[in-house]
Amino acid sequence: MTGHTRRTKIVATIGPASANPATVSALIEAGMDGARLNLSHGTQDDHARTAQLVRDAEAAAGRPISLIADLQGPKLRVGDLDHEVELEDGGSVVIAGEDAAQDGDIPVSPAVLGSVLQPGNDVLIDDGMVRLRVDRVERGRARCDVVVGGTVAAHKGVNVPGIPLPIPSLTRKDLDDLDAALEFGVDFVALSFVRSASDVTALRTLIEARGSHAWVIAKIEKAEAVAALDAILGEAHGVMVARGDLGVEIGAAEVPLLQKRIIHHALERSKPVITATQMLESMIHSPEPTRAEASDIANAILDGTSAIMLSGETAIGEHPVEAVAVMDRIALAVEPHLGYRHETPQASDEPTIDQAMSNAACDVAEALSASAILVPTFTGRTASAVARLRPQRAILALTHNMDSLRHLALEWGVTPLEITETTDVEDLWTRSIAAARDSGFVSSGERIVITAGTAVNLPGGTNVIKVDLA
Ligand code: PEP
Repeated sequence: MTGHTRRTKIVATIGPASANPATVSALIEAGMDGARLNLSHGTQDDHARTAQLVRDAEAAAGRPISLIADLQGPKLRVGDLDHEVELEDGGSVVIAGEDAAQDGDIPVSPAVLGSVLQPGNDVLIDDGMVRLRVDRVERGRARCDVVVGGTVAAHKGVNVPGIPLPIPSLTRKDLDDLDAALEFGVDFVALSFVRSASDVTALRTLIEARGSHAWVIAKIEKAEAVAALDAILGEAHGVMVARGDLGVEIGAAEVPLLQKRIIHHALERSKPVITATQMLESMIHSPEPTRAEASDIANAILDGTSAIMLSGETAIGEHPVEAVAVMDRIALAVEPHLGYRHETPQASDEPTIDQAMSNAACDVAEALSASAILVPTFTGRTASAVARLRPQRAILALTHNMDSLRHLALEWGVTPLEITETTDVEDLWTRSIAAARDSGFVSSGERIVITAGTAVNLPGGTNVIKVDLA
């Protein structure tokens, strides 16, 4: 392998600033591995067009790109307002569910708020820019003291930290958006405001019932999700450290250590983890990152994140391509300092076969300074188990399964390569080695390690480690 190929993956949100053929191609050229459609904004038609742009650019670039639909989830929002409301520090205002709101109140939808608020509760509007404290509640209307004033505009987000909300995890809008997203063939569906593992199970069931192979990413942004992290990780295919709402719900001071904890737990389960939000916020307007932003990205990589994500920077920013290029540069500067088994949790006393085999395969590859670890795989699980150990060698995942190629585009350090289908194991190895050579990651005669199953295409059947020459 010549030079260093970036191992941390980059996800970019595509929005008005980037949803055109030239910019999507330039984002891929700059290093984007996954494209996120934020269904909280825009129309389904906009997103369908963007999905097609990504697929066209992916075909032209010749490498798999993950397409991620991010569902809005059960987010409380300010309802319709005739005009913006100015709130003064120390003033007072009534907030109410949309059905109970009177003239001059701030309406909130869905309309459950009035029935759950109690005196002393905090109500945060617009990512916590406006802070209210409930004084008294009468017939579904909560009179609040204004702790931090500001402007309240229609449809701004509302958070009520620590208060369980009796609303379903998938709203009517989410179900409609899910249908549309599966129709245009997304590879991942991210679910906002996950509260329990059963929220993830419900979404998986819907996706499977529609015959889609899309994977579910649970966005960790509520205290309930942090408390249920292990169970959620058991159900989800991956997680996102959704630092924006997490910071509002739990407090910005808690975010850095929670980020480390969430990444650590995801690594324990060999599941991809995306660190998101405000990574290069200043680049929405500025062509250069702040030093603090560069350090934040470096820190997420050192924490062991699989992927780093851009939101407004690429969706509405003035420098979308430069933002991806900056992430790429920072990752390339930091990654040489990640050692083998970087941040890998202690080996389990009862490893799965995948874990035991990938442990041994990585040890052999490191001991022999192999050029690459080749993982012929059907589901991609063995490639993720190898990636968990953060080997210094290239990880080449070889599959004919298009879904797996695109899922693996988000996995740390994995280069997904397409091979033609075969059921013969010797043939599988030969095709894998040929694809590895063609990719330029290994040269003829270099040492490689292969780990795979002799029962070809059987999920969970990894049972061989083979040392060979390319
Ligand atoms: C977040 O809150 O950090 C996040 C990624 O979610 P969204 O962009 O949907 O607010």
